[in-house]
Amino acid sequence: MPTESTLLRYMTRFRCIAERCEDTCCSGLKVPVSESHWHRMQATVAPLPEEAERLRQCISLNPGGPSTEHAFIQMRPDGHCPLLDTERLCSLQRRHGDTLLPDICATFPRVVTRWGERVEVSGSMACPEVARLCLLEEDALEPEPLPASSAHVPRPETTRHLPVDPEDAYTFHAETVRAAMLRLLHRREYPLASRLAMLGQLAYGLDDFYFRGTEAFRGEERAAAEARLSEVLQRFELPDVLRSIHQDFTGLTLPGGPCVGLFRSVLKARMAAGRGERFSTLVRGILESLRLEDGGAKDLDAAWHTYAERWRYLEAQHGERVHRYFHNSTVHQLWRSPFTDSPSLLAYVFRLTLRVGLLRLTLAGHPRVAELSHAPSPTSDSQEQLDRAAVEAFQLLAKHVEQSPDFLSLAEGLVGAGRGADTLGKVLVFATF
Ligand code: SF4
Repeated sequence: MPTESTLLRYMTRFRCIAERCEDTCCSGLKVPVSESHWHRMQATVAPLPEEAERLRQCISLNPGGPSTEHAFIQMRPDGHCPLLDTERLCSLQRRHGDTLLPDICATFPRVVTRWGERVEVSGSMACPEVARLCLLEEDALEPEPLPASSAHVPRPETTRHLPVDPEDAYTFHAETVRAAMLRLLHRREYPLASRLAMLGQLAYGLDDFYFRGTEAFRGEERAAAEARLSEVLQRFELPDVLRSIHQDFTGLTLPGGPCVGLFRSVLKARMAAGRGERFSTLVRGILESLRLEDGGAKDLDAAWHTYAERWRYLEAQHGERVHRYFHNSTVHQLWRSPFTDSPSLLAYVFRLTLRVGLLRLTLAGHPRVAELSHAPSPTSDSQEQLDRAAVEAFQLLAKHVEQSPDFLSLAEGLVGAGRGADTLGKVLVFATF
């Protein structure tokens, strides 16, 4: 467990690639402007009538909203920011520098979280350059000490603060629990699917006394509850326990057609919500390559078989590479998204597993992967093609699906409050996918 402020190694390598970027940070996002920034903008452009008028047209006020959402930038119908210039660069930043930018524009793609007094810096995979650096390098997720007065924390006042409160056992023990989860995820002698099953079992072991709002650590019960927490975490360090979960889990075979159907609904719903041309092109390509445009249960089973075949191809020809994408992205998720945002650890592990399943389908259905899998043998640029497909798939899902109401309500609808044996069962179902 780190005791000092950290940033993940790939963020030390991050530089915005600006006009060479295949996306723009703000496309498809809702960009709030705080009250203080709105006034600063007004004061700066007051002597420039043309620019003042332009800003008035591009920004709409949000009467009665919180001061952090005093106004919103009105995105163009294609989802892009109206303040981008012809080279797709931010005209506001070009003319006036960073100080005039809304918080989200000034901080993206950095994700800064303060755990008590300690700061952690990671990145948002919604940025293609972050996705590349995070997925492709073996050492991308190593925590490094955060340099003092760091440019990696551009607006410290906007940092998300997670209180570590001794009276709230869920947050107070969160770093210890996350450290145990990270250790489990690093047991790479087991496939990721088995490691997700282990995380599910660990969460299930804590499920009846460690969750948001637990009373089990109050007063005289505290010492016993802490001893039990520690005993469960230590159990999941034991090689025999892990081996046995792996063996039981790998004996499980479940039909994947229903999972394919769920993922298809999410992708279609997000495409229908008008998430921009890059995302729509990818989803259309996936639906076509897996023959999932329409159709009932039989077609879902057929798509699942195609998916499973592609997956066998990926494992046989590019196993190490593909495992790295999924390992890095899952470890990254633990750093970037605190589990205390979920009502229970099991609910969090379920979402983690659902996300891996959707990413697996997206990568296997990617038209470039379909093309590679039909080639008689790998070509010299196969790995590069695969990397490009993976970066596109992970980035576009991070940007358009993972935080979306469709995906969040799917997860919530499937497991409700996310506790009990039923939720563990669903973790195992999606982990087998
Ligand atoms: S998405 Fe990332 S690389 Fe692209 S312009 Fe934004 S910060 Fe730069």
